[in-house]
Amino acid sequence: MTPPSPAVGVLALQGAFETHARRLAELGADASLVRKPGQLATLDALVIPGGESTTFLKHLERAGFYDALNQFVHSKPVFGTCAGCILLAREVTNPQQPSLGALDIAVERNAYGRQNDSTILTAETTLPGGPLEMVFIRAPRITRISDNIEVLAKRDDSPVLIRQGRILASTFHPELGDDPRVHQLFLNIVRRSMS
Ligand code: GLN
Repeated sequence: MTPPSPAVGVLALQGAFETHARRLAELGADASLVRKPGQLATLDALVIPGGESTTFLKHLERAGFYDALNQFVHSKPVFGTCAGCILLAREVTNPQQPSLGALDIAVERNAYGRQNDSTILTAETTLPGGPLEMVFIRAPRITRISDNIEVLAKRDDSPVLIRQGRILASTFHPELGDDPRVHQLFLNIVRRSMS
């Protein structure tokens, strides 16, 4: 018997949410776009895409969304990419701003400077299948991680793909490359959390 498809929402307030949803659907998830806080109740997991974290915060302040999202990220599998990673972090700098604090890391926003606004790199990863291509867009840098965080890939010496139990985060955009391994890993985490 095939196991049921996990219901994975993609926060669709801004950013490349459709690209995430397509990739998740290709990998067998029941993917949906989340625009209202009430939709969170039916989901097994959520992706928070990239974009501008300050704009996200403004949208989330709309009635009830911040609280509902806060509750979700502290109890269910979540994958935050770039601005999504910033929203999940415990501490944000450059400048300081509020965040959900589910992931025990500190991040510095826009840390690679204007010259490096956008970069594609290939780096080693602990994921099976060899080096990973990574697309960075006005990326943050993870400047501190706690002991319970697993580092799955690095750029120079900074972690760029990390896992803390049921939470996965990347400072790059895995939905913009052709490689499905990061979304696949997330779906494995989601499926395990459901069994
Ligand atoms: N620079 C954005 C921020 O600080 C993140 C960029 C991205 O998500 N690609 O929120």
